[in-house]
Amino acid sequence: MNAYVQKVLDDLKARNAHEKEFLQAAEEMLPALSPVFDAHPEYEKANLLERFVEPERVIIFRVPWLDDKGGVQVNRAYRVQFNSAIGPYKGGMRFHPSVNLSVLKFLGLEQTLKNSLTGLPIGGGKGGSDFDPKGKSDGEVMRFCQSLITELYRHIGADMDVPAGDIGVGAREVGYMYGQYKRITGQYTGVYTGKGLTFGGSAGRTQATGYGLLYMVDAMLKANKLSVSGMKTVISGSGNVAIFAAEKAAQLGATVIAMSDSNGYVVDESGIALDVVKEIKLKERGRISEYPARAGKGRYVEGGDIWQTPCDLALPCATQNELPLLSAQALVKNGVKAVAEGANMPTTIDATHHLQKSGVLFVSGKAANAGGVAVSALEMSQNSMRLSWSAEEVDQKLHGIMNAIFENISKTAAKYADPLDYVTGANIAGFLKVAEAMMAQGAV
Ligand code: NDP
Repeated sequence: MNAYVQKVLDDLKARNAHEKEFLQAAEEMLPALSPVFDAHPEYEKANLLERFVEPERVIIFRVPWLDDKGGVQVNRAYRVQFNSAIGPYKGGMRFHPSVNLSVLKFLGLEQTLKNSLTGLPIGGGKGGSDFDPKGKSDGEVMRFCQSLITELYRHIGADMDVPAGDIGVGAREVGYMYGQYKRITGQYTGVYTGKGLTFGGSAGRTQATGYGLLYMVDAMLKANKLSVSGMKTVISGSGNVAIFAAEKAAQLGATVIAMSDSNGYVVDESGIALDVVKEIKLKERGRISEYPARAGKGRYVEGGDIWQTPCDLALPCATQNELPLLSAQALVKNGVKAVAEGANMPTTIDATHHLQKSGVLFVSGKAANAGGVAVSALEMSQNSMRLSWSAEEVDQKLHGIMNAIFENISKTAAKYADPLDYVTGANIAGFLKVAEAMMAQGAV
């Protein structure tokens, strides 16, 4: 590893010893950037990497809200404004009990390179709260969202910081947050993306991350003389990303044989009936365990490891570190051909190395799941222009963006590393643009 990169990584570990997810993301990303620093000594002179790994700003605040019994509840919320070198901060809000500063800093760091890879002018940010929407009434979720925005509104803006959804934040939560922002500021601006279609949302945004993931997989498989068609596919999660990844995989001729939620997974060798999953998870906010009874087929496994299910294509689309080394070993043993990350950092570093060493095609989240933020940026453009594009128009642009990302990361991989090392390709390709912009803007 380049000595300067090593030094920055060591300092980062010493200063943020308790932030394990953030350090994991940095340990995956920084070593891959070594060839860039070998080629650009001026970056070291400008202390570029020390600046890059430090968020520009972190906002932490309390969110008091009234539950249905009239009791006062308090949660903690954050906005990490990581890097604005190439555009306004952009990245989702996550509502999940596991949210803390380390998780949001890892997501903000990844988001910065992901947004750069889209080729669109958006910087990196991320936010969220340890609030758990599960089991809360609509009224409770609304009051929580309104209280959160009553503080956050002063730190965001259409040209400053544009949040969106993530785990636990879908159209309902975005609608409540956007409504409160508009009410406080009196401004009808594109300050959130993932909005409803009746008030400035973009066609295709809901589907974008999952569809984009499959466009990336399709491009990668074609480049390696393989095809999605006929592939037995396992997808973890059954939320926004997983469901629309499953939809597009089926459209491209794959058979999706397993999906999950945080309690367990279902296996249905005949092909998961996605309308049933949508009904259970999107409409009723229920559990995937209901699938066999509702679909009249398949079996449910409580807990367990979905990656033990033999498949050709594995798409982790739930959460970070859900695919550890033991799971990667099972996938390889069962003959998996490709793994693409719909979630952010779902594969641990040792698992990633094992898959790559075993000849499995692997593409990391910052490239593979960039379709969501890409269409969010298209939503920002439509809002600024006061226009709405058709679903076909947006989908065509998304497809073009995912193909361009694949071309960029594979060319970069071939130039700096192994031509099939798409992980290094994504890290370097994303970083180069941010680095150039930071250098041009001076010591800020
Ligand atoms: P959702 O909340 O819609 O769905 C999340 C899914 O993952 C649910 O099935 C959930 O199960 C499961 N899950 C969440 N946390 C855990 C956990 N700790 N252990 C096991 N399973 C878990 O979120 P999204 O689909 O939006 O996000 C999924 C991933 O994709 C995240 O990593 C997110 O950062 C990433 N991503 C999302 C984008 C988007 O556009 N939404 C864009 C790019 C990346 P349960 O129902 O039981 O909670």
